[in-house]
Amino acid sequence: MTATSADPRQLSLTTHLLNEQNAQRYRELVGAAVEVVADRIGTNQRPFTGTTPQQLAKEIDAIDLDAPLGDTSAALDELGEVYLRDAVYFDHPRYLAHLNCPIVIPALVGETVLSAINSSMDTWDQSAGGTLIERRLVDWTAARIGFGLSADGVFTSGGTQSNLQAMLLARQHVQEETGAELSRLRILASSCGHFSVTKAATMLGLGTDAVIEVACDADKRMSTVALQEAIDGCRARGEVVMAVVATAGTTDFGSIDPLPRIGAICAEAGVWMHVDAAYGCGLLVSRRRHLLAGIEAADSVTVDYHKSFFQPVSASALIVREADVLRHVTYHADYLNPAHTRAEQIPNQVDKSIQTTRRFDALKLWLTLRTMGADAIGQLFDEVIDRAADAWTLLDADRRYEVLVRPRLSTLVFRYLPATGGYTDAEIDLANRHARKALAASGEAVVAGTVVDGRHYLKFTLLNPATTLDDIADVLDLIAAHARDYLGETLVPAAC
Ligand SMILES: *Cc1c(COP(=O)(O)O)cnc(C)c1O
Repeated sequence: MTATSADPRQLSLTTHLLNEQNAQRYRELVGAAVEVVADRIGTNQRPFTGTTPQQLAKEIDAIDLDAPLGDTSAALDELGEVYLRDAVYFDHPRYLAHLNCPIVIPALVGETVLSAINSSMDTWDQSAGGTLIERRLVDWTAARIGFGLSADGVFTSGGTQSNLQAMLLARQHVQEETGAELSRLRILASSCGHFSVTKAATMLGLGTDAVIEVACDADKRMSTVALQEAIDGCRARGEVVMAVVATAGTTDFGSIDPLPRIGAICAEAGVWMHVDAAYGCGLLVSRRRHLLAGIEAADSVTVDYHKSFFQPVSASALIVREADVLRHVTYHADYLNPAHTRAEQIPNQVDKSIQTTRRFDALKLWLTLRTMGADAIGQLFDEVIDRAADAWTLLDADRRYEVLVRPRLSTLVFRYLPATGGYTDAEIDLANRHARKALAASGEAVVAGTVVDGRHYLKFTLLNPATTLDDIADVLDLIAAHARDYLGETLVPAAC
C-alpha cells in the first residue's frame, strides 16, 4: 500500500474507522447527524407522513447498495428521503398508537456513548465498568421490586426475550424438580397476556397446547378463581404447571393482575410465578407504586425500561428473586468464560444471559438516573396515567364512542358507534378500521387497533406527557369524521 494511492476504497479504510486519527471526523459527523435529527424533531408537524409500504419501497429499492456515496454527509442527505422524512415520530403528541415512549435526552446521550465505546457485556474483559454498572442497575431494580439481597438478573433486548428467559428458567427448574416430560408442562397466563409467552413456549419445545388461557374478569384482570381451577384441572389431568404468568400492565388494557392473590396461589401450589411488567414497570418509580403490591413474591419479573422508563429501544431486563436460578443459562466456553473465572470471581454477565455479544443498554438508564433521578421518571409516567384517566372521562361522555375498561395505566380501548341504528356489527367494525387507516394516511395522528370479543376497537396508548386532552379531543373528532365518511352517515347539524 502506498500513501499516494488515490483509490477511494483505500481512503475510506483509513478515514471511516473511529480511532485516534479520526476523532475529529467522528465529532463532526455525529454532530451533523444530531443536527439533522434535531431539525426534524423541531419542525415535524405530524407524527407520520402517511406514506405506504409501496411508495417507500420504490425509493428504498432504487438505492444501489454496491455504489457507495463515499461520504457520510451525502449518505445522511439520502437518508432524509428514504427514512427520516417518512419515519414515525414517537415524540409527536399525536402519536397515540403503541407502547413507544418519547425518550429522555440523558438516555440518548448514553446511547451515543455506549454505541461509540461499543463495550460488549458478555465478559468482564470486554466491558469492565460496564458490567459493574449493569449489575448495580439490576440490583437497583430488584430492590425497587422488593426482592432481597439474593436477587439478580440481566439486561435483555426486550420483554419478549425477558419472558423467554423466564420461561426457560422455569422449565429447567421444574424439570429438575419433577423430571416431567416437556409435553406435560403447562404455562398459565391470562387471556389478556402477551403473545410472547406462547412464542416462548414454542421455542422451548413445549406442546402446542402448553399455554392455558386463564379467563379475565370485567376489568381484564386474571380471575383467581379461574386460575385455581386451571391449576386443579392440570393436576387432575396429570399435567405439570411450569409457571403462572401474571401481567402487570396488559398491552391492550394496562390492567394489572391481582398479584397478591396470584402469589398466594402460586406459593400454595409450589408453582413458579412470573410477572410480566414490561409495561407496568414504570410504576416502580411512580406515586402509584402500590399498584404493584405483591410483585415481590414473584420468582421472575420482566421490566421494559423502553416502555415506561422513557428509554430508547432496547432497554429491558429480567430480574429473578433467587440469583441461583440463573445457573440454568450458565455455560462455559474455553475461549470466553472458562469455569475457573468463576472461582476467580471475575464477573461475566454471559453466565446469566441467553445472549453472548450484548449491548451496554444499562448505560442509558444509568445516565437517566444520574441526571434526572427515578422520581422524575415516575412523574412522567404518572402524568400520562393521569391524562388517560381524564381521556376516559372524555370518551365516556362522548356519545359517538363506546369506551371499555377505565384504565389503570395509560391505554384506552374504544370504538366509534354510529348515531343512528341500522348498521351491522361488521359495518361498524369496518368503519373503525377505516378510520384508523385513513387517520394514519393523513398523518394527522397515529392510533392502534385491537379486537375485543370479536369486535374491532381502536386504542390510544398514552406515553407522551406532551399529549394534551385537546390533542385527544381533536383526534376523536378526526376519527369520527373518517368513520362517518365510511358509513355514509350524514352529519345531523347540532341544535343550537
Ligand atoms: C411489549 C410487551 C412485551 C414484549 O416486549 P418487547 O420489548 O416488545 O419485546 C411483553 N409483554 C407485555 C405485557 C408487553 O406489553
